Amino acid sequence: MGYSVKNILIIATGGTIASTDSGDGLVPAIDVKKLISYIPDISGRCNIDGISIMNIDSSNMTPSLMKKVADAVVDNYGDFDGFVVTHGTDTLGYSAANRYAYMLKGLGKPVVFTGSQLPIEHSDTDAKRNLFDAVCFACENVSGVYVVFNGIVIYGTHARKIKTTSFDAFESANIEAAAKVVNGVVVYSGEFSKEKHRYIEYNKYSENDKSDNDSNDTGLYADTDMCEDIMVLKLFPGIKTDIFDYIKEHYRGVIIESFGIGGIPCTAGDEENDSNSSVAEKIGELTEAGIAVVITTQCMYEGVSLDVYEVGHILARQNVIVAKDMTTEAVTMKLMWALAHYTKMTDVKEFMEAL
Ligand code: ASP
Repeated sequence: MGYSVKNILIIATGGTIASTDSGDGLVPAIDVKKLISYIPDISGRCNIDGISIMNIDSSNMTPSLMKKVADAVVDNYGDFDGFVVTHGTDTLGYSAANRYAYMLKGLGKPVVFTGSQLPIEHSDTDAKRNLFDAVCFACENVSGVYVVFNGIVIYGTHARKIKTTSFDAFESANIEAAAKVVNGVVVYSGEFSKEKHRYIEYNKYSENDKSDNDSNDTGLYADTDMCEDIMVLKLFPGIKTDIFDYIKEHYRGVIIESFGIGGIPCTAGDEENDSNSSVAEKIGELTEAGIAVVITTQCMYEGVSLDVYEVGHILARQNVIVAKDMTTEAVTMKLMWALAHYTKMTDVKEFMEAL
């Protein structure tokens, strides 16, 4: 059987991994060729090339900048076997979720996001390991979007930044990690094939949306329309409900981080906080008005269900969308994509709750 050397493209976007000390804090400044020069051992494994498409702190990431990353993959898709996107860690969970299911359709190769907690120039950096591991995973015969960080390979829609400084900054939320990279060797989890299949099914589901989008003979295209008129709202005891009137006026969708498995205040205020309507009633007004309301949770693990408590049953009757076990990062990007592609709320709900 023939063995061919893989061609891997690094798409650099900035982040700590590419930062230097400006004297006034870290600033992304290192060119992609210099990044590659820090992992010389990789040349024995694959042919590697790099392009720099922006050099930003990822706190400044926006949906339109995400489109540029998706376009870079599409434009270079025919020439490379795998892609590594170097990205700041702060919004990496959003970008990786978006790229997977909602923007790149017909993806048949790996797109691997990575970054680091310390700049690649730093003597104790985690950047060299993360970049090396990400390239190793990009050489695998898999498809989909992944995050490789601290030796763990995480599905793009399940990557969550949980630590601000430690090297084990990302974890795989609500699903076993896809694999580990140990000394350059990829060790898959027992569940991997099943999940890979899920990716393929998802792309098929989204094929129906292919109409006036850019396409090329590789079958891959980027469907990058996003609706930014959404809001993420974290509940807290005593929240004033007038915020929901503002949302009704100004947004097309809201993601509510509820308490626990889907807890939402369903009684109206008390002596000190004298509201006329409960949060649950306000949610009913939103869905009546055609605003998409997605219920997720403030808890890190195990997701949302509306089956357990009475308030959940009330919300279910109000046609809210249930985020199940999706991360807030994934649900945010998915809702932006859904609202740009569907006008009927039943279609938005069906898309949001699928898989
Ligand atoms: N603020 C940086 C960024 O997200 C943090 C990092 O890259 O780790 O770009």
